Amino acid sequence: MTVEPHQLNRHLAGAKPSATYKVMDRVAAHRASGAQVISLSAGEPDFDTPEHVREAGITAIRTGHTRYTQVAGLRPLREAIAAKFQRENGLDVRWQDTLVCSGGKQVIFNALAATLNEGDEVIVPAPYWVSYPEIVQLCGATAVTIACGADSGFKLTADALAAAITPRTRWLILNSPSNPTGAVYSRADLQALAEVLLAHPQVLVLSDDIYEHLIFDGLAYFTLAQIEPRLRERVLTMNGVSKAYAMTGWRIGFGTGPGWLIEAMEKLQGQQTSGACTISQHAALAALTGPQDFIQQSRAVFQRRRNRVVDLLNQAPGLHCQVPQGAFYAFASCEGLLGKTTAAGQRLVSDEDVVNALLDEAGVATVHGSAFGLGPYIRIAYALDDASLQRAGEAIQQFCRALSD
Ligand code: PLP
Repeated sequence: MTVEPHQLNRHLAGAKPSATYKVMDRVAAHRASGAQVISLSAGEPDFDTPEHVREAGITAIRTGHTRYTQVAGLRPLREAIAAKFQRENGLDVRWQDTLVCSGGKQVIFNALAATLNEGDEVIVPAPYWVSYPEIVQLCGATAVTIACGADSGFKLTADALAAAITPRTRWLILNSPSNPTGAVYSRADLQALAEVLLAHPQVLVLSDDIYEHLIFDGLAYFTLAQIEPRLRERVLTMNGVSKAYAMTGWRIGFGTGPGWLIEAMEKLQGQQTSGACTISQHAALAALTGPQDFIQQSRAVFQRRRNRVVDLLNQAPGLHCQVPQGAFYAFASCEGLLGKTTAAGQRLVSDEDVVNALLDEAGVATVHGSAFGLGPYIRIAYALDDASLQRAGEAIQQFCRALSD
């Protein structure tokens, strides 16, 4: 058998490009042709990184902190991460059991790539963040998705988890608050899942806590390792500065978990990217150890926007949206729009049709739910100023009102 020069790794060949990036490309094409588009598709806060954090990055450059760091990260940053886990999550963490990576995404990639073999299964509750199943696929393992519908608040239940675990299950991925639904797991939700996990000692858990601080209505935040200390040796708690401190471009994520896993992830990272960007590590240190009022401020802004956006969506005939308790996403059912025809004569058969027509005819960019593993829904990211959200909401309402049977 001959090998062509362009032949790809078979796991990469089977992976899909990110649906959210695809939408961003379509938005760019629309704008390039002169169309006005309000994009509700971005997965990042619209705020600037806090001033003192930016200054810390500038100071790092000026004072010559421009060389490699240890693969696992600067010790003061790892100590600050351990202190964060203690302070905010009640986890007693040694700095040696933390790892700094180039974004939260690399924490996830490191963990899965370090542990998965062909034939292994990873349980991914759907709807899910688009990258989970693709990373599992890249590692040569199989993502086992479990549909978690509106009736369970888009959350994984203990019964559904128990039914999905097989002897091949290596990981469960949990994400609270969730991208794309904004669902938040309560203490009781996590306790119920922990009971099931205790009976299956081969299963590791990735707790993706990246939206931890974006939680509304005065709810308390809980993470699995804190709820069930008997699972501590099997849980990788992942977090980062991207969403909490509006630092998506700085690329700093971190995690803590059992020593053997952190060590394996460090080994992998040492042959891949080495330590995360030194300047960004200094900035992340300032974020974690400096004033924390930015977190309260952005939470208040997002809660206000959430209320407005959910109201606007629920006033659009054919859309229905539960009230999300976290992150900056609303996940609205568009079932009521299917089978209808748009003002421009487009028949809407799937949620992807709805998203395409909303962009073409209403100038509003969203992402279809089926890209996240559950349709027919649309995901609206409300990381945008109030006036644009209002205009987008009104354009969506007008689009829905203009549909015909
Ligand atoms: N996890 C979830 C659920 C996300 O939505 C994202 C980013 O969109 C990440 C992880 C990755 O974060 P980072 O930008 O730190 O890599």
